[in-house]
Amino acid sequence: MNTLLTVQSLTKQYGREKVVKDVSFSLMKNTSTALIGPNGAGKTTTLSMLTGLVNPTFGDIILKENKEDARRMIGFLPQYPKFFSWLSAIEFTEMTAKLSGVDARVAVKESEKILDFVGLGNVKKKKTGTFSGGMKQRLGLAQAIVHNPSLLLLDEPVSALDPVGRREILNLLKELQERTTILYSTHILNDAEEMTDQLLFLRNGELVEQGSLSDVREKYANPMIKIIFSLEEEAKVFASSSPWNVKQEGSSVCIPIRENEPRMQEILAYASLGDWTVQRIEKASANLEEIFMQVVNKQ
Ligand code: ADP
Repeated sequence: MNTLLTVQSLTKQYGREKVVKDVSFSLMKNTSTALIGPNGAGKTTTLSMLTGLVNPTFGDIILKENKEDARRMIGFLPQYPKFFSWLSAIEFTEMTAKLSGVDARVAVKESEKILDFVGLGNVKKKKTGTFSGGMKQRLGLAQAIVHNPSLLLLDEPVSALDPVGRREILNLLKELQERTTILYSTHILNDAEEMTDQLLFLRNGELVEQGSLSDVREKYANPMIKIIFSLEEEAKVFASSSPWNVKQEGSSVCIPIRENEPRMQEILAYASLGDWTVQRIEKASANLEEIFMQVVNKQ
């Protein structure tokens, strides 16, 4: 696969504080990558450096197709996009298309096409000042893609939206994913699950984990067997008497599985022996939020 962007040792320092520290990663062409981290992790600063809005203190950003003007190549949706309330949607996208180097006549056509794509075709002549939050986010996306960029950078594109708006934007992004390279930030791992080839975890400005969703899942899933008893007392007795390192919570216990040990048969055999009533036995593993917490809190 072709690399579109390579970031090497990217660092940003404000005063004495490094808010992005020695971050390196690559983006392959036509893939999507989620930049994940809690608030203050350095996501916006990283994206701002990639767009050229903030100068790095140190490090390299290498765009493969840098013969072109970066403004043509990159589309950017900021976390809080601003619009001129007196302009109509189509006037706004025409203006941003031209600013990105699109020829004036082409800008009109492309604007119409893109506003149709984001579902604003029927309100293209309305002033943006009248738009709802969801409509503004769609317009923000339209201005980011109207010049057909090869790299699309999105800062928290769905975080501020209600579930319907979030779904609409995610569906549009999934369509875009097929023809462009996307890097988007989020602090919600479930959003990342929807469309991600690569995950980049930022914590205090450092890239603490990176890999595909399945790699990260495998590494942090912590498989376990959960046994649910009728009574809390039974779970306590099981936890104190079993040969394993068991975590008890209420009327259930969790037995971590490492390298297939202990085996399910062993656990079933043991569980069938005692003087307790087992209601259910199930396989469990960390969910995405738990994985996020593990990565963010790891030493
Ligand atoms: P995120 O997008 O992950 O929430 P940011 O990149 O916005 O994180 O911020 C990372 C850190 O950098 C925060 O502690 C923030 O206060 C600090 N920061 C961001 N911009 C500036 C600035 N212009 N001057 C000083 N500190 C800043």
